[in-house]
Amino acid sequence: MTASFSSLALKKELISTLDSLGYSEMTPIQQQALPVILAGDDVIGQGKTGSGKTAAFSLGVLSNLNVKRFRVQSLILCPTRELADQVANEVRRLARGIHNIKVLTLCGGMPMGPQIGSLEHGAHILVGTPGRILDHMGKGRIDLSELNTLVLDEADRMLDMGFQDALYSIIQEVPTDRQTLLFSATFPAEIKNIASSIMKKPEMIKVASTH
Ligand code: ADP
Ligand code: MG
Repeated sequence: MTASFSSLALKKELISTLDSLGYSEMTPIQQQALPVILAGDDVIGQGKTGSGKTAAFSLGVLSNLNVKRFRVQSLILCPTRELADQVANEVRRLARGIHNIKVLTLCGGMPMGPQIGSLEHGAHILVGTPGRILDHMGKGRIDLSELNTLVLDEADRMLDMGFQDALYSIIQEVPTDRQTLLFSATFPAEIKNIASSIMKKPEMIKVASTH
């Protein structure tokens, strides 16, 4: 099995960005997950911190994106602001060859005013914590009718943070024909229940060691 990103059906601007970032080889979880993600199938991924999960789902998000359509196309949910910021930074790094892409971070604990203003300007990709995202949705500030990709990153930690109800409420409002990518370090019953109720024939990908 080749470990080069160029073996994948990725947009050429993504291939050249990966090259310029020095991502010369896929990590093991990327090797297993990316072909499935790029085929449009749902994935449940389990792998240690640092195994490259963020880039794996971000490349899926960016592959599903039509930048000319200025609507929210992906929603990436994270347990904390720190993680959401890290994820948004990685998405922006990987997206630097895509002109005019707008990635917006929406987290709890941050002032509402700037978020409301940013939402009025619009975005392609939203990254945030479930409580704040749901808050904006409840006020009619987020239109998810054109969402094609939903990512749950560190799903077990989102449950630890008490976001289970918020997650289910958000998921009820997103199109059913989306792709769902779920990552979690552990798989307690609650995660298995979420996965089986919101995902379509997900492929389980588990990588024990880091690269
Ligand atoms: P995880 O979410 O699995 O904990 P990250 O996605 O944050 O891990 O990746 C850890 C680090 O590895 C990040 O700094 C990221 O930029 C880097 N990275 C990811 N994929 C690759 C790759 N294929 N080649 C080189 N570095 C990579
Ligand atoms: Mg991660």
